[in-house]
Amino acid sequence: MPRDPRHDILFTPLQIGPKTAKNRFYQVPHCNGGGYRDPSAVVEMRRTKAEGGWGVIFTEQTEIHPTSEITPFIEQHLWEDKDIPALARMAEAMKSHGALAGIQLAYSGINGPNLYSREVPLAVTGGPILTFTSDPVQARTMDKQDIRDLRRWFRNAFRRSQQAGFDLICLYGAHGFGILQHFLSRATNHRTDEYGGSLENRGRFLREVVEDLRETTRGELAVSLRMSLHEAGAYGFSNAELRDFIAMHGELPDIWDLAHGTWENCSGTSRFKPEGAQEDLVRGIRELTPKPVVGVGRFTSPDAMVRQIRSGVLDFIGAARPSIADPFLPLKVEEGRYEDIRECIGCNICVSGDMTQGISRCTQNTAFMEEWRKGWHPDRARPRGASESVLIVGAGPTGLEAALQAAKRGYKVTLAEATTTLGGRVAKERALPGLSAWGRVADFRTGQMAVMPNVEIYRDSPLTAEDILAMGADHVAIATGASWRRDAVARLHLHPIPTDPAMAVYTPDDLMAGLAPSGQTVALYDDDHFYMGSVLAELLVARGNRVHFITPAVKVAEWTDNTLEQGTIMRRLLEIGVEIHLSKAPEAIGATELTLGCTWTGRQTALPCEAVVHVTSRSPNDGLFHAARALDWREAGIRSLHLIGDAAAPGPIAWATYAGRAWAEGLDQPDRGDALAFRREITALEPGASLLP
Ligand code: ADP
Ligand code: SF4
Repeated sequence: MPRDPRHDILFTPLQIGPKTAKNRFYQVPHCNGGGYRDPSAVVEMRRTKAEGGWGVIFTEQTEIHPTSEITPFIEQHLWEDKDIPALARMAEAMKSHGALAGIQLAYSGINGPNLYSREVPLAVTGGPILTFTSDPVQARTMDKQDIRDLRRWFRNAFRRSQQAGFDLICLYGAHGFGILQHFLSRATNHRTDEYGGSLENRGRFLREVVEDLRETTRGELAVSLRMSLHEAGAYGFSNAELRDFIAMHGELPDIWDLAHGTWENCSGTSRFKPEGAQEDLVRGIRELTPKPVVGVGRFTSPDAMVRQIRSGVLDFIGAARPSIADPFLPLKVEEGRYEDIRECIGCNICVSGDMTQGISRCTQNTAFMEEWRKGWHPDRARPRGASESVLIVGAGPTGLEAALQAAKRGYKVTLAEATTTLGGRVAKERALPGLSAWGRVADFRTGQMAVMPNVEIYRDSPLTAEDILAMGADHVAIATGASWRRDAVARLHLHPIPTDPAMAVYTPDDLMAGLAPSGQTVALYDDDHFYMGSVLAELLVARGNRVHFITPAVKVAEWTDNTLEQGTIMRRLLEIGVEIHLSKAPEAIGATELTLGCTWTGRQTALPCEAVVHVTSRSPNDGLFHAARALDWREAGIRSLHLIGDAAAPGPIAWATYAGRAWAEGLDQPDRGDALAFRREITALEPGASLLP
C-alpha cells in the first residue's frame, strides 16, 4: 500500500539552525537504564532508530560535571575527554542513516545528590536535594564564582560534544531535572542578584549559556532548549511564564523542545493520559517564535501527527516511547506500512528499567536494549535453523510473541488456544478501567500473523498432553499462563491464613470474568503492589461497591513509583472515595469481617465487610507441561519441550513477551552451556590502578 499523500508533510525536511533534519520524526532524549554502564548496548539501540528513519536522534541525559550527578540513575557522563569515545560511537551510530545526532546536556543542581562523586551539590538556591528518594543531602547556593565555573564546565561539554561529532546540543530545562529550569522557576530560584527576581533575570544564565554554546562551537551546532511546559504550584515556572519567556527570547535557540514540568506529568501512562495530552499547553507557542517547535504526546498515529503540524501546534513530532516501541515507525509511515506499526501501549515498563537501575525493556519491542547484548533486532529475524515446525500452546502475550517471532524466522507455526479469544491476560485486562491500550499487545501480533502463510492458529482448542505429542511438531512451547490465587499468599503471608468459608472471596480472574462481589462493602487486599489492585478498586467503585483498599506497604501500589504512576493512583483512589488502610494486612478472614493486623505493631482491628478480593500472587498453570513431560515426548519426535512466560514464572506482560521472544530466538541454537546468555562490557582497568599511592 503506498503512503497516504496526507502524510507527505511528515517527510518534508526542515532546518534547525545550521542543520537540516530530513523529516519531522524527532526522537527526544530518553533514558534506557544502560547509560554509561552499557555503552555498546545503548549505541546499537540508537542505531536501530537511525535505521528506522528518525530525522533527529538524541542521547539520554548526559551529565557534564561531577558536581552534579543523579546516582543511582544510570545516564551518560561527559566529565572529561575520556568520555568522548563512547559518545562519539553513539553519534556515529545515530548519523548512520542520515539522521541528525543530538546530545542532551544536563546539570542537575538541586536534583543531583552526588552520591557517587561525593562533591557538594551546587544549586541556584541551596536546600535539600529534590529527588524521588529524599536523599539526606543539601545543596549549597552557587555564588558568582560558581556560576562562572558552571559556564566554563558547560563550555567544556560543548567542545567535547562537538569533538564527539554531534549535530545538536539540547540544554535540559524540563521535568524538574535541569538547572536551567531551576534558574527560571521561582520555586527553586530565590536569588536576589542579577540571576533572580524578574523573568529577565531568571533567564540570564540560560542566555549566557546559549551564547557560550554558539561561541564555543563557532555556530556550527544547532541549539535545542528543552523547556518545562508547566510547573505546578504557586511559585512554579508556569505555562504563562514560559510563553512570556519565549515571546521575549523567540530567537534564542534553534528549536524549542517542550516537555512537561515533571517527568510524571510528561510521561503519563495510557491509563491516565491519552495520546497528545500536552496539546493545550503547547498550542499557540508556535506563534511566539520564528523557530521550530517540537513536543511529545505518545504519538503513534500518523493522522494525529499530521494534525499537529497542519494545525500549527508543532513542527516536529517528538517521541520517546513510540520510538522505543517501534524504532521503525518513520520508515513504516514513509512506506505506507501502517499495519506494521508496533504501537506503544503506554505502560511505562521502559521507564521502570531506569528507575530500578536494571536495563530498560519494552512490552511491545522485545528487542529494546537487546540489540547488542543478544543481537536481536526490532523487526528483522535471524534465519530458521535445521528444524521446521513449532507448536505453541496458549495465545497470551507469551504465546503470541513466540509464534510471531518463530514465524518470522521461517518456521511452520501452529498456535493452539483453549478459548475463542486471542490475547490471554491482555484480552481480559484490556477491558479494565484505563487499560484498553494494552490490547495492542495482542492486536499487533495477531494482525501480523494473519497474513503469514506459515502460521496456523487454532482457537477453542484446549490441548491435552496426548494432543501435543500427536501433533508432530519439532519444538513445543507451553505458554498456558497463570491464575490469581484465592488465598492471601504473596509476600507478607507465605502460607494461607484462616478463612471462614462463609465469606465470599474473589480473585482478579473472577472480577475480569464478570463476577460481581455479593454485598456492597468489599475489602481488597493488595500484596501485589503493581497496577491490578488499584484498577480493580476503580472497577468495583464504578460498579457501586464501597471499597476498602488494604496493603501491608506504606503506600498504595508502591511498585508503580517505577512507572511514574503512584501519585496519580493515590489521588485517583482518594478522589473516588476508596478507604485506604496502609501497613495493614488481614490475619484472618471471618464470615462477616476481616481481622486486620498492623504490620509494625501487630495491633489488631476488625473490619466488617461482605466480600474480599485478593490481589496477591499468581500460580503458574504448568499442569499441561508436567503432564507432557511425563510422557515419552522424544519418542514422538519432539526435539524440545519448554515451559515459558507466566506459566513458568508469573510476571508483568513485558516479561511474558520477552519470554516468547527468547524462546523463538533460541530455536536450533547450540547449547551455550554455562556461557552468559548476553554480551556485556566491563570497566577497563587503568594502567597501574591496583597500586596504592
Ligand atoms: P502469558 O502471559 O504467559 O502469555 P496468559 O495467561 O496471558 O499467559 O495466556 C495463557 C493462554 O493459554 C490463555 O489464553 C489460555 O486460555 C491458554 N491456555 C491455557 N491452557 C491451555 C491449553 N491446555 N491449551 C491451549 N491453550 C491453553
Ligand atoms: Fe511504550 Fe510500554 Fe514499550 Fe514503554 S515499555 S515504550 S510505555 S510499550
